[in-house]
Amino acid sequence: MNIRQTLSIGLISLGLFCGPGLAAENTKVSNAAIEARGLTLADFPRWKAVAPNIYAYEGYHPSKVMNTVSLIIVTKDGVVLVDAMGDEAQGHQLVDNIKKLTPQPVKYLIVGSDHGDHMAGNGPLKTAWPGMVVVATPASQKAMAKNAAPPTELVTDKRVLNVGGTEIQILNLGRAQTGGDLLVYLPATKIMFMSEVYLRGVFPAMRSAYPSEWVETIKKAQAVDVNLVIAGHCWVDDAATMQAGLEAFRKAVELVIAEGKRLHAAKVACAEPANCEAVKQAKWSAADSLALKDGQAPIALAKVYQELDGKLP
Ligand SMILES: [Zn+2]
Repeated sequence: MNIRQTLSIGLISLGLFCGPGLAAENTKVSNAAIEARGLTLADFPRWKAVAPNIYAYEGYHPSKVMNTVSLIIVTKDGVVLVDAMGDEAQGHQLVDNIKKLTPQPVKYLIVGSDHGDHMAGNGPLKTAWPGMVVVATPASQKAMAKNAAPPTELVTDKRVLNVGGTEIQILNLGRAQTGGDLLVYLPATKIMFMSEVYLRGVFPAMRSAYPSEWVETIKKAQAVDVNLVIAGHCWVDDAATMQAGLEAFRKAVELVIAEGKRLHAAKVACAEPANCEAVKQAKWSAADSLALKDGQAPIALAKVYQELDGKLP
C-alpha cells in the first residue's frame, strides 16, 4: 500500500471524495452546475464510498457544465458497474480507477441510461473485461445498436443478481427520461441508483422522455424502502438531502407538464423546440434556477405538447 492508497482509505472512511480534489466545495449548493458547487473540471473524476465497497463515481458531462454519476459495486466475486461515462477518455479513466479499487474484474455493466453521456465510455470497459455481461432494456438495446458494448442480456421487468454475496436488484419501473430506464436497488444497504430517472438540480431534460410516465416511475421508486437515492447527474450528499432532491425533481417534472398543459390549452405554439413561443410564457417558479434550464425548457415543452397530441414515439 502506498501513501496515496493509505490516504484514499482514510478519506473513504470519512465519507469524503477521492480524486484530484483541488477546489473548495460548497456542499450547501444543490444545483448541478459544476461552477455553482465551486468545483472545476480538474476535480473529476472522483469517487466516494457510500457504503462499504459501494462507490459513487463522478466524471463530467460532455457539455462540461455538470457531472455524471456511475455506481461501482465491488464484491469478492467481481464488480458490478452501473453506467459508464460520456466519452472514451473518461471510460479509460473509469477502468483505471476501478483497478485501483479492486483486482476483481467488472462482471456486469448495467445500462441505467442509454444516452451517450452515460455509455459513450463503454468501449474501454469492454476492452478491459471482454467477458462483461451488459444488461439493458429492450428499448436501450435498440438505442445501443452502434455502441462498443451492446447489451448481452435484457430486462423487461426485474432481474435479481447475486454477485459475491451482494443482492443487486435491477428494476424497470417504467419509462421515464430515456424510455429504456433502469434503476438499481441494493436491499442490504437500501441504496438506489436512479441514473437519469433522477436529475438532481437539473431542469427536466425531455429530449427522449415520456413525461407523464416519468412522474409515475419516480413515484414507484419513492415507494421502495430506500435510504440513499443517487441521481445520474449532480452531487451525492446525505440521504435526507438526496430524498428531498428527488421530491423536488418530481415536482419539477410535474410543473413542466402542468405548464405545458396550460399553454397547450391556450393554444400557444410549441410544435418544436426551435420554434417554441410557449417557452416565453412559461412560469417555472422553483424550477427557474435549475441547471440547463434555458436549453432544456423548450425541448421539454415540445415533448409535453407531443404527449398531449398523442404523438410520442
Ligand atoms: Zn445524462
